[in-house]
Parts: sequence; structure tokens; C-alpha cells
Amino acid sequence: QRSEAPPARRVAVVGTGYVGLTTGACLASLGHHVQCCDVDRTKVERLSRGEVRIHEPGLGQLVREGIRTGRLEFTHCSTAAVRRAEAVFLCVPTPMAPDGSANLAQVESAVREVRDHLPADSLLVTKSTVPVGTAARLSELLDRRDVAVVSNPEFLREGLAVRDFLNPDRIVVGTASAAAARRVSELYARLEAPTVHTDSASAELIKYAANCFLATKLSYVNDLAELCERLGADIGGITECMGHDHRIENSFLRPGPGWGGSCLPKDTAALLHAAEAIGADLPLVRAAVEANRRHQRRVVDKVVAMCGGSVTGVRVGMLGLTFKAGTDDLRDSPAVAVAQRLAELGANLIAFDPALHGDEPGVPAGIALADSAYQVAKGAGAVLVLTDWPEFRDLDWPQMVGLAEKPVIIDTRNLVDPRVLERAGAVFCGTGRAPNRD
Ligand code: NAD
Repeated sequence: QRSEAPPARRVAVVGTGYVGLTTGACLASLGHHVQCCDVDRTKVERLSRGEVRIHEPGLGQLVREGIRTGRLEFTHCSTAAVRRAEAVFLCVPTPMAPDGSANLAQVESAVREVRDHLPADSLLVTKSTVPVGTAARLSELLDRRDVAVVSNPEFLREGLAVRDFLNPDRIVVGTASAAAARRVSELYARLEAPTVHTDSASAELIKYAANCFLATKLSYVNDLAELCERLGADIGGITECMGHDHRIENSFLRPGPGWGGSCLPKDTAALLHAAEAIGADLPLVRAAVEANRRHQRRVVDKVVAMCGGSVTGVRVGMLGLTFKAGTDDLRDSPAVAVAQRLAELGANLIAFDPALHGDEPGVPAGIALADSAYQVAKGAGAVLVLTDWPEFRDLDWPQMVGLAEKPVIIDTRNLVDPRVLERAGAVFCGTGRAPNRD
């Protein structure tokens, strides 16, 4: 971070989920006065007491610090939140509509709620991921010449939200107004990051372009893993060598059960939909999405094969339900998709996830939540590693294997040392490498 203090501004944040709460707490930590609002009254009450229920390292502390210094406040009333704000950040969900497009209903309803209460010369800043044309559409909806709409897409990763917000790779500010761009950039003045000033359409597209690239990279790695299994090669050495090449870079090169989460599935679908709507095509992105469906199905096929052709009545233990390590987010998690398919095939499912406790709302019916990995292994006909939580690597695997009814391990993340499993007498397979027994 740069040391010189920027002028403190009055800011409002609409939506206090992963993006909104991080934005609010971090902007307050940078010295701004932030009013956050959310339609979820229970959430607002908890946040006002400094209770953060999402799993984000450092976020609870920042929220409590913001409350203590008086720079961060929460309300359920969006009109009250925006009334004195110089900039209003929209951080509401843009989920996938049934046709694949981005559903903008919550963005538009948030704008309708606040439009008559925005101060003159304020800025409406879109952080939600929205398709090209949304800034223009919101300007129309606002119908206020004195309020500029600015696209400022967010790139933070769940599990690293605070760190990513405060140390971004880049800040994107999209607007035709140089003055509005300067004012939004100033809010981030203490952050050391390249700022890209562009038009709103490009800013909106940048976010989709980046996420579709990442999804394609992951699908390619999983395609390679599938090829490795058939050719008798090992994906681990291959991706390690690819990652040494600085043109490729080693992130997003690990094979797994398919990609998911709250962003990649809906953003790939939305870009494909937007392209199709204008008669364009993105065959690479389409192939990445189709490959991802196949990779998730392949996990289920492997489990069935490792269980001797049927999982009906088999107790399947699952390690990890979230879409990746470091988050409690279950939205579009490949682990959940795999679990649902196994349940349809008649498996009895028990799962452990370090970020999920008790009666977690997003856990699909039919999956029992265990308190520990060892409880999952006890009496299991197969144990499945689905999320790359590092603690799964360090389990006492000989004990895990000993607790299971059958020593069958399917490690979709290649997390566990195969030599340890071999010594423990397990029958196991990973992703992109040969199983130890055919
Ligand atoms: P979220 O579901 O975690 O949080 C959204 C919040 O908005 C909820 O608390 C909801 O109650 C609230 N809300 C809905 N309508 C509202 C309204 N009219 N007024 C006030 N509050 C309202 O969502 P999220 O994961 O933070 O994502 C928000 C946006 O940011 C999406 O467009 C997403 O694509 C984008 N994004 C998400 C991530 C991520 O990692 N989660 C990263 C970058 C961008």
C-alpha cells in the first residue's frame, strides 16, 4: 500500500456478501466512511455486532475495527445508506438465469430503490459482474444526468478476499467521463496497483474475459489428465513442467473434479449467451464448459467402477464439499454435483468439510455432515477427496484406510501421497495418473 493518505470519502455499499462486505470493510480500512446495506435484516443485525459468518481470513477483524473507529456502519435501508454517499458500490448477486444469461433483476431493483436518493454529482459504481451494456442500461434506469455510472469489476478470490482487495493485480475503471474515472481511482489511491481506465463496455467484458480464460485453462488441464490416464502418463510432472514456463505460469494448472463456484459457471454461461445473442460464437469457451460436465461425470464413473460397478447401498465418505479450499461457498460446487449424482445412484453419503458445521443451509438433503474426516472414513465402502483443503493431505491415512470397510480411496485432487496409500494397503486412484490396481 502507498503511504500517503487519500482524502476520506463517504461511500455506500449495496449488498454485504463476499464482495460487498470485503469492499466495505477494506474501503473503511483505507480511511473512507462506509455505509453498507443489505436486504437481509438478520445479516445486517449480525454485522452491526461485528459478527461475520462467511469464511474469509481477516474480514471479521477488519469489520470490527471499522465499527470501532466509526468508519463502517450497517443498515437494511438502502436509501439511508446512499443519501450522503459520494460513491455507491453495487455488490449484489448476478446469478445465472435459466437461459444462461446473467440475471440482472437484483442489480436493477437495487438501482430503482436508490435512484431518487442519490446526491447530486454522486457516482454509481458497479462491482457486480454484469454483461456488456449494463452501464448504459443503468444510466437509462437512473435517468439522472448528475450521476455517472462507472464499471469497476471485482477480481477478488474467495478465501483470499481481503488480501486480494488490498493487493489487487489491477484496478479496472470503465466510464466515458474522465472526471468520474479520476474520482473512483482516488478511492483506491493508497493501493499499489496498475489502474486501467477504459470505456464501460470494455470494463464489463474484461471480467468475463478473465474468468472464461481461467475456466478454459482448468478444462484443458482436466482434458490432459484424462489423456494421461489413457496413455499411462502422470499429470503431476507434466503440469509442474508446464508451470515453469513463465508464459504459462503455474496457477490454475491442477487437475480436479471439474471447476465450479459462484463465478466461473455463471460467467462462462453469460458470455456464451451474450455472444449467441449477437450471432457470434466462442467455440473454445463452449468446449471448456462441455468438457467440465464430462469431468464431473468422470468422477462419478470412477467411484462406481472402484465400488465394483454399483454404489447402491454403499456408504461413500466425502472429504470436502466446497468448490475449493479456503471458502465455505457451496454455490455450483463440483463436489456437490458429484454427491447429488451418487445419491441418485443409491449411495449413502457422509461428508466432512472444515468450513461447514452443523445444519449448514447449502448442504443438499441426503448428505450427512460429519465432525471429522475419521468419522467419514469409518465403515465407508469408498472415500472420496473432493476439495483441496491442505489438512486432508496431512490426515493419518493408514488410520483412515483402517477405519474404512473397504480400503478404496478416490483422490480427485491428487492431494494424498500415493506412497502412503500404497503402504496402507489402499486401492486408490487419482486424476491423471494410473490407478495402483486395475
Ligand atoms: P453474495 O450472494 O455473497 O452477496 C450478495 C448480497 O447482496 C447478499 O447479502 C444479498 O442479501 C444482498 N442483496 C441482494 N439484493 C440486494 C438489494 N437490493 N439491496 C441490498 N442488498 C441486496 O454475492 P457475491 O459473491 O458477493 O457476488 C456479488 C457480485 O460480485 C456478483 O455479481 C458476483 O458475480 C461478483 N463477484 C463475486 C466474486 C466472488 O468471489 N464471490 C468475485 C468477483 C465478483
